[in-house]
Amino acid sequence: MTGLPDEHSAAQPAEFEAFDGDEHVGPTPVLAVVGRPNVGKSTLVNRIIGRREAVVEDVPGVTRDRVSYDADWNGRAFTLVDTGGWSSDARGMAQRIAEQAELAISLADAVLFVVDAKVGITDEDEAVVRILRQAKKPVVLAANKVDDLRTEAEAAGLWNLGLGEPFPVSALHGRGSGDLLDAILAALPELPPMPEGEEIGGPRRIALVGRPNVGKSSLLNKLAGETRVVVDNVAGTTVDPVDELIELGGRTWKFIDTAGIRKRVKEASGHEYYASLRTTTAIDRAEVAVLVLDSEQSIAEQDIRILQTVREAGRALVIVFNKWDLVDEDRRYYIEREIERELVQVKWAPRVNLTARTGWHTDRLVPAIDKALEGWETRVGTGALNTFLGRLVAEHPHPVRGGKQPKVLFGTQASTAPPTFILFTSGKLDAAYERFIERRLREDFGFVGTPIVLQQRVREKRKRGRS
Ligand code: GDP
Ligand code: GDP
Repeated sequence: MTGLPDEHSAAQPAEFEAFDGDEHVGPTPVLAVVGRPNVGKSTLVNRIIGRREAVVEDVPGVTRDRVSYDADWNGRAFTLVDTGGWSSDARGMAQRIAEQAELAISLADAVLFVVDAKVGITDEDEAVVRILRQAKKPVVLAANKVDDLRTEAEAAGLWNLGLGEPFPVSALHGRGSGDLLDAILAALPELPPMPEGEEIGGPRRIALVGRPNVGKSSLLNKLAGETRVVVDNVAGTTVDPVDELIELGGRTWKFIDTAGIRKRVKEASGHEYYASLRTTTAIDRAEVAVLVLDSEQSIAEQDIRILQTVREAGRALVIVFNKWDLVDEDRRYYIEREIERELVQVKWAPRVNLTARTGWHTDRLVPAIDKALEGWETRVGTGALNTFLGRLVAEHPHPVRGGKQPKVLFGTQASTAPPTFILFTSGKLDAAYERFIERRLREDFGFVGTPIVLQQRVREKRKRGRS
């Protein structure tokens, strides 16, 4: 039997999660815990997440039944959903358990089905098994309350459920939980691999983008100054010949496709097409895009297109108003109006007014980029997120639509860079309500300089063939 999950290493309490964010990139798979009341689900959840209390603070709208937790085992993270007391109405027990199982199945990547080995298989367990079989999601079967060797024989009887090997555990004492966790990891889908092509932990990657003549190459020259970095000096980095390493604020940064900025391609036909293709590629390869605008000119369709590309690529964003030396009182007034009108979609992006020609305020660029990257990589722990969602839903419920009122059941931040949230809901949320959630997320957690991605997973209402 493998060792018990240690109280401290088996799970990261939500508050500490930000510190090991690196291994949490990419969406985490979801495991739902299902079973009759009193089989020991909450005790097992506590065991897995390594905490005594799997109960969140008492916030209106947040009840124990809609709580998910961050868990990890052997360095792999997953989200644990305790369907514990999900249904609270007065319907029959069998129906409640069936609903709980269906809900879990529709939300989760795999299911942990907990049975009380001391009691053995009941009719209610059988009902859950039927639903689980139809769902075709991976199931791990936990035979709980196997506190000693004697009860292990009874656990073997659970092979009869036809769900494969029962894992004998004692949620109370920790016995067997290591083996169970190994089986859970095997059942969960692998995390999607890291995006390829760029080294991890190398210099941060910046794409300097904007229309011709806004001052990109002037800014680049000003920034690079005398401190252009010799590629060989930075160990372990591969530098594309079109890129450039530049030292700013004591750190080395990789500017993507500076060749495209420096050697200004001037083919007569198709030039614009290639320029925009080059911009898109640079944004894709970068972590943060710095959009350079000419303050003398109105924000143009082409600028908006670039902003759209940045948002779709999910990159951090900083907006530079260059040629500020040419801005007078009048122009200043109109710039403010244009920002209100044209940049509403990217209100969250830090803006820097500077003059590339003289270097005025160019020192403000690095702090703005740092801020944007910080927002881009912000992670909100599942506990804090659900407290936030519970409060938000209680204070501002979704409007009723066609007699129904979609509800956010709970949420989890699946990944950073850009921050991506999965909201588990009881029905499709309005776009306006999604925007409202995004706005409140920004108010509470920052997310300066980054797009936020909200994904909904709507609880599937399955037609019941049975009575
Ligand atoms: P839930 O309703 O499925 O969430 O069950 P709980 O976690 O609340 O547990 C129900 C009862 O079973 C509690 O009194 C627990 O202390 C007890 N229990 C849970 N796990 C074990 C176990 O492994 N062995 C024994 N002997 N009791 C357990
Ligand atoms: P790019 O096409 O975006 O790389 O733009 P350039 O850097 O080649 O600049 C286009 C023109 O704008 C050049 O004539 C620059 O001298 C001028 N320019 C660049 N930055 C500034 C600035 O801060 N103030 C003023 N007045 N002109 C600038």
